[in-house]
Amino acid sequence: MSDYKGKVLIDGVPATVAEYKQWEAKLRATEIKHERKRGRYTIAYKRWRMAVLERDLFTCTLCGCVGGHLEVHHKQSYAKHPDLREEIDNGVTMCYECHSELHGGHWGWFYDK
Ligand SMILES: [Zn+2]
Ligand SMILES: [Zn+2]
Repeated sequence: MSDYKGKVLIDGVPATVAEYKQWEAKLRATEIKHERKRGRYTIAYKRWRMAVLERDLFTCTLCGCVGGHLEVHHKQSYAKHPDLREEIDNGVTMCYECHSELHGGHWGWFYDK
C-alpha cells in the first residue's frame, strides 16, 4: 500500500485528496462531454464513482498504485446489470493502465462495459 498517508499521486506528485478531486474534474471534463450524449454521466454516477474511489483510498486494487488517472470498474457489467450501476459494492478502483488492460487494451470498453 501507499507511503503517502492521506495523500494521492497526480502524475507521480503527492497531492491532497482535495487537489486530486480538482485535477480529476478537469480530466473528466472532456469525457463528460462525450458521455453526456449517452446519459451515463448522471449526478448519481459521479457520486457512486467518487464513493468507490474514497473507499479504495484512491488506490488501484490491481497494481496498488495511488492516484493518477483512476477508473472505477463495474464488477457486474454496466450494460447487463443496470440495477447494480450505483451499488458501491459493485465498483472497484483501477488505474487507467490496469483497467484498459482488463478490457482488452483499447478504449472500446469505456462506453459499453
Ligand atoms: Zn493499476
Ligand atoms: Zn471496467
